[in-house]
Amino acid sequence: MKHHRRDLFVRPYSIITMSFAAIEVFPKECMGGLISLPTRLPVIVAAVPYQIAKRTTEEVETDSSSLLSSLRIGRHLKIGDFHSHPFSGRMESEPLAPSKTDFEDAIEGEWDLIVRIVRVRSSLHRRMREHGGSLSMSEGRFRILMRGYYRDKKDYKEVAIRICNE
Ligand SMILES: [Zn+2]
Repeated sequence: MKHHRRDLFVRPYSIITMSFAAIEVFPKECMGGLISLPTRLPVIVAAVPYQIAKRTTEEVETDSSSLLSSLRIGRHLKIGDFHSHPFSGRMESEPLAPSKTDFEDAIEGEWDLIVRIVRVRSSLHRRMREHGGSLSMSEGRFRILMRGYYRDKKDYKEVAIRICNE
């Protein structure tokens, strides 16, 4: 994938938070906010799960996203949201694609990070790694894949996610 100026950089602690949020409510969907400092490149320094979201296995609904948008925690800003796509008892090859609702609900000028989480039979532990602009990891019976999207005026485009250790 070509490098894009909207590519997302993610701190490891945020990856732990998003992975656990998806595992904790599985097989329901989780949702949370992505927090960045006002830097030139979008670096996710924190991920904030929405605790009182209304969750089902098909969708998640919350007013917390706009509440978080209205806050300035120090110099931090919300730059997007994350949510999970849970799959139970199906193949690991379940595709990760944004739904029609994801596109319609996306906020212009913000990022979405989608966490595909699949529960399989075999247990495995493999640390998070980057490949082709997405992140993947295994945690016990869960297989996790994360992909980023950016909403501009007309489009909802996939962007690369990079682990940022600084
Ligand atoms: Zn979705």
